Amino acid sequence: MLSAQDKPVIGISSCLLGEPVRYDGNHKNAQPIVEHLTQYFSFQSFCPEVAIGLGVPRPPIHLIKRQQKIYCVDVSDPSIDVTEQLIQCCQQQDWQQTLCGYIVKARSPSCGWKSTPITLIRDIPPQLFGSGIYTAQLIKRYPNLPVIEEDQLNDAICREDFIRRALSYEHNK
Ligand code: SF4
Repeated sequence: MLSAQDKPVIGISSCLLGEPVRYDGNHKNAQPIVEHLTQYFSFQSFCPEVAIGLGVPRPPIHLIKRQQKIYCVDVSDPSIDVTEQLIQCCQQQDWQQTLCGYIVKARSPSCGWKSTPITLIRDIPPQLFGSGIYTAQLIKRYPNLPVIEEDQLNDAICREDFIRRALSYEHNK
């Protein structure tokens, strides 16, 4: 059995490891589904919204589409735009190059991957989905990095496929 420092490293949204960093001061502990992966990997947690100084608790943000571009703005005051801060925050995280995979929080405007609602018109439920700003930038930087949302880890086939891809990514670095 490998010791923690010898295991390949997976990045993970901090709230999924039980850290109380969500906008409402809560977490989204996914430890039971992440647990299975600890025999193969160690984890590096990161919360982009805390990293850009939004604090806990904080007003919620969401994705909107304006003139064919996606922005991440405050839900009640769309003039507060943190898109560029989240992009730059991702670009500054040199530790990402040591990773062999990333588990992200589904539906988050920062961390989601293809599941985050995008608001087109205020007061009309979103019908469009995309990736959170941080994760979209992560994938731009590391297009082959295996990424999965925590929901998908519930599916044994998806989970084993993710493990296989992450170990292969580590092996071929
Ligand atoms: S920004 Fe990401 S890590 Fe931070 S609370 Fe939201 S989903 Fe979790």
